[in-house]
Amino acid sequence: MKKKQFKAESKKLLNLMVNSIYTNKDIFLRELISNASDAIDKLYYQSLTDKKTNIDQNELQIRIDVDKDNRTLTISDNGCGMDEEELETNLGTIAKSGSLSFKEENANQKDVDIIGQFGVGFYSAFMVSDKVEVLSKKIGNKAYLWKSSGEEGYTLEESAKEQIGTKITLYLKEDSEDVRYSDYLEEYKIRSIIKKYSDYIRYPIIMKVENRVLKKDSQDEYETVIEDATLNSMLPLWKKNKSKITEEEYNNFYMERFYDYEKPMKVIHTSVEGLCSYHAILYIPSHAPYDLYSKEYEKGLQLYANDVLIQDKCSELLPDYFNFVKGVVNSQDLSLNISRELLQQDKNVSMIAKNIESKIKSELEKMLKNNREEYEKFFNIFGRQIKFGVYDNYGMNKDKLKDLLLFHSSKENKIITLQEYVENMGEDQKNIYYACGETIDKIDLLPQVELVKDKGYDILYLTDYIDEFVMKTLMNYSDKEFMNICSKDLDLTTEEEKKKLKKINDKSKKMFDFMKETISEVEEIRYTDRLKNHPVCLTNEGEISVEMEKVMNAMPTDDKVKAKTILEINQKHPLAKKIEELYKNDQEQLKEYTKIIYAQAKLIEGLSIDNPTEISNLVCDLISK
Ligand code: ADP
Repeated sequence: MKKKQFKAESKKLLNLMVNSIYTNKDIFLRELISNASDAIDKLYYQSLTDKKTNIDQNELQIRIDVDKDNRTLTISDNGCGMDEEELETNLGTIAKSGSLSFKEENANQKDVDIIGQFGVGFYSAFMVSDKVEVLSKKIGNKAYLWKSSGEEGYTLEESAKEQIGTKITLYLKEDSEDVRYSDYLEEYKIRSIIKKYSDYIRYPIIMKVENRVLKKDSQDEYETVIEDATLNSMLPLWKKNKSKITEEEYNNFYMERFYDYEKPMKVIHTSVEGLCSYHAILYIPSHAPYDLYSKEYEKGLQLYANDVLIQDKCSELLPDYFNFVKGVVNSQDLSLNISRELLQQDKNVSMIAKNIESKIKSELEKMLKNNREEYEKFFNIFGRQIKFGVYDNYGMNKDKLKDLLLFHSSKENKIITLQEYVENMGEDQKNIYYACGETIDKIDLLPQVELVKDKGYDILYLTDYIDEFVMKTLMNYSDKEFMNICSKDLDLTTEEEKKKLKKINDKSKKMFDFMKETISEVEEIRYTDRLKNHPVCLTNEGEISVEMEKVMNAMPTDDKVKAKTILEINQKHPLAKKIEELYKNDQEQLKEYTKIIYAQAKLIEGLSIDNPTEISNLVCDLISK
């Protein structure tokens, strides 16, 4: 007999289970039954590809047995079983499942939520047991018995078992003031847990129950007989008549299957009959999974071929921009023993994927039209994903997605669609205007905003770092070009006004050239008529805006970009007079003032100043005068 210690990380999780204060201990049964069902799936799958594995499909089952005298609860399956090595690696170490690292990181602080959200597998047995025994036999192998009373470790020895499969015996803890562990020996309790969590398990979950029946040949005398009863309905949700499925059923199905503690925001149930028939039950979660924007996040739908799970996260079924969608797809027209590689090329799979994509899209459009509040909530959570979709692949999907976008409107002071923007444009307005910044409030204070607003034009305020890239990808909407109000080409004045301004600028060219010597990094200095009350602003020329410069330079690459900036001065502001006067009388002073003016313009844009000490000294000198 081997005596072993648990690996460090297993010990931690085990410890958490043994001392669990988690109130919903019921889920241990769900976990063990899911494992049993997975094991039967594996054996069944094996029998399809390996002729030597002979099984009788009708015999596949999970059994639950109780022994009240010994306080034991036993869960048996006739699935694939485990050999000696597998018992050791699977039950002695827990280091495979994806959510483990998250569980671990948070195990000490937040065990309450984690157990409910992710499920913790086999070790949850220790929430209710003092001792656990696993007797298992794999095809062509001897049987082995694994035993553990928790943290001390486990033993592993050869044993005897006739049938292939696994039998797990739980020695329930003594009842305490808070928890009646002996409830788990009661039929009603077991039935209710299975109904709640494991009703759709594809194999019968069978238990011996006592039934009172009329005695043979008697009218009024009853006797108690012990019979097998199947506790689960086994009918997957997609097999049920759509009109008979309640909202609660949809929600429970989602929450159990995708380990969410919150019900979904939207359920999309679709069935398609045709060349490739399928059922899909899709869900839009009501919150983003914690890792949605990390590399570890895997998109995908559960794919069933004829009610047998063939892939847990079939990524081919979802485009990246709908990667937050969860759900199941079942098709009769897929081959069961299809490999992952073949699945990628399978025509049926790509056809289903295409249909699913347009279904999700049309449901979102419907939501936008009929339930704006819900759509806005959706967009706040997952909108960035849609924006990525517009921008990704050189804008290949932009036309599909552009009407799902929402941006903040300066006029409406709420988020609107691009179509709404265009519908509200006056006849004289040529472009769709936008401005970028950290927050709505900050953008609203930008000097450039004032005049555009004065003209009566709406401005889209972009606060997400990806927003401007989206605008650049879209280029135009409904033949109207997108235009950053900070760009050089902003064209709000008449030809006559333009001529007048050009004249003034030409006249001041020498002065501006002189000023430029102190701030050589700007492309140009000039008077502008885009400002109303504010004295200065920065604008930019070319493809890269100041906002884009900030985003791109924050990325971990060596290629730094630089926006071509222009310092603009309001010709009607007293500042204009002052610099002209200084240019004539005190050029040294003008140099210093130029530095201050430029620093002001940078600050307004949210850019940092290269020489803050110098600027601060200059300002203080000025104040002290
Ligand atoms: P998970 O199910 O998330 O992988 P578990 O801790 O529940 O984690 O189980 C660990 C592994 O032990 C499983 O992946 C499986 O390989 C094996 N296992 C558990 N229960 C059984 C069973 N009843 N029959 C066969 N293998 C099992």
